[in-house]
Amino acid sequence: MIELQNVSKLYHEGRENEVRALSGVDLKIGLDGVSVFKGPSGSGKTTLLTLIGGLSKPTSGRIHLDGELISNLPEKFLTGLRRRYFGFIFQRFNLIRGLSVAENIMLPAYPLGPNHAFLKERAHKLADKLNIGAKIDMKVEVLSGGEAQRVAIARALVNDPKVIIADEPTANLDTKLSKQFLQIIEQLRLEGKSIIMTSHDPRIWRANIVTRVISMEDGRIVDDGAEDGEAPRETGEEARR
Ligand code: ADP
Repeated sequence: MIELQNVSKLYHEGRENEVRALSGVDLKIGLDGVSVFKGPSGSGKTTLLTLIGGLSKPTSGRIHLDGELISNLPEKFLTGLRRRYFGFIFQRFNLIRGLSVAENIMLPAYPLGPNHAFLKERAHKLADKLNIGAKIDMKVEVLSGGEAQRVAIARALVNDPKVIIADEPTANLDTKLSKQFLQIIEQLRLEGKSIIMTSHDPRIWRANIVTRVISMEDGRIVDDGAEDGEAPRETGEEARR
């Protein structure tokens, strides 16, 4: 369970260009579903995701992860915790050009991860599982969009995290690749992973694998999607359209 209490985030605090990205956010997310943050651009979705994933710290407020207060942990503790709990899929995937598929997949396990041989084997297994085994030694810049997407997913899985965090994962994907992404997410969900994403793509928040839709506006949560313990959901028929 991730719990945010009265969390605010300011960028450039105290300066002329100060931005209030989040204001007094209270939220509980169980580590057992597919949750989506939706809302207009600039509403604070990505900022919230980076706080949940321990990639940045709130200006004020508290964040607990499975009962442990993480919002004021020193970076060296946060790194270990992040690695144990979270795998990240970034906007436009952020694959590192010039490195191979295998090297990209292994990156989040460095520098303190398992030994190299073990890691390489794990990268190969993940690549096979995601149908990119044949591309394992290729540089990522020669991959198709769909292959790049699967490398990004494999990379998010390399530390076997409990939670996959994905920021606008389908922003640059056509309908076919978006569907493919959702199918992979569904599979990961069946394997026991929890997924937390941001999206302003209706194909995502209407998909029937999504268990909760949390709506944001101006740095606040306007609908936390948790009423009656269930997120609003469309029928499978509607979601397939
Ligand atoms: P969303 O993901 O909903 O588009 P963001 O969390 O990216 O929203 O942004 C929320 C607000 O914070 C926006 O006004 C944005 O310009 C600002 N912001 C986001 N990241 C930074 C940053 N690193 N430095 C300064 N302002 C930022």
